[in-house]
Amino acid sequence: CGIVGYIGTQTAIDILLEGLERLEYRGYDSAGVATVLEGKLRCVRAKGKLYNLREKLAREDNTARIGIGHTRWATHGKPEEHNAHPHMDTDGRVAVVQNGIVENHQELREELKSQGRQFLSETDTEVIPHLIADLLPEKTEEDLSHPSPFLKAVQQAVNRLEGAFAIAVLCADYPDELIVARQQAPLIVGFGQGEFFCASDATALVSHTRAVLPLDNGEIARLTQLGVEVYDFTGKRLKKMPHILDWTS
Ligand code: GLU
Repeated sequence: CGIVGYIGTQTAIDILLEGLERLEYRGYDSAGVATVLEGKLRCVRAKGKLYNLREKLAREDNTARIGIGHTRWATHGKPEEHNAHPHMDTDGRVAVVQNGIVENHQELREELKSQGRQFLSETDTEVIPHLIADLLPEKTEEDLSHPSPFLKAVQQAVNRLEGAFAIAVLCADYPDELIVARQQAPLIVGFGQGEFFCASDATALVSHTRAVLPLDNGEIARLTQLGVEVYDFTGKRLKKMPHILDWTS
C-alpha cells in the first residue's frame, strides 16, 4: 500500500516513519522497516498501527543511514506480522517491500521451493527476495562486467514477475545501494543533497524535497549517496531528470 525508502546521511528510521505516517491516510493493516547496519539487514515489523512499530523500534539500534519502509494492505495472506513487509530471503541477504500483486507468485513459489527455498509467509511478495538472492553472485565472486551485481540481480528478477507492482529492495552485501522498480504501480524518486528518497506517493516526501522523478512502467532506479541512475528492464541506461513539484497549487 505505502512505500518509503531513504539513503543518505540522516537517521533512516526517522525519515521512514515520518513518510509512512504521511501515507497513513491510504489505510493499512501492518507496517515494517528494514535497514542495513554493519553489513547486516535488520527487519522490524508489527501488526496494526505505526505506533506498534515505533514501540518495537524503541528497543533497536536505529543508527542506519539506509532503509525501506512499508504499510501493508493485505491482498495475499492474512494481516498478521509474519505477512507484513519487508520480506527477506532465507539467508537474510535481501529485503523487499512491495505494492501491488505478483500474479504468477504461485508458480514462482513452487519453483523456488523445489530449489530448497523456505517460505515464512503466505504473501505473493515473498517470492521476490528469494528470486533476487538466487541471482546474486556469491560474496566472493564479483561480477566485474556490470557496475552493480545487485542491480543486475534485481533487473533479472523483475523480468520474471507478472502483475502490477512497485518494489524497493535492500541487500546486506551492497549497503550503499537502494534499488527500486516500477511496473503499473506508482513509484517516485526524490532528490536531496547527498541523500535520495523513494516513495509510492509524493506526499511522503513533502518535508524533504520537491525535486522528484516519477518512474515510468518498466523502469529500475539505483540510488546511492552519489546520485540516481535509471535503467529499463533490459538493463539499458536511460537519461532522466527530476522536476520540481509545486506544493502550493
Ligand atoms: N500483495 C502484497 C501483500 O499482500 C502487497 C499489498 C500492498 O500493496 O500493500 O502483501
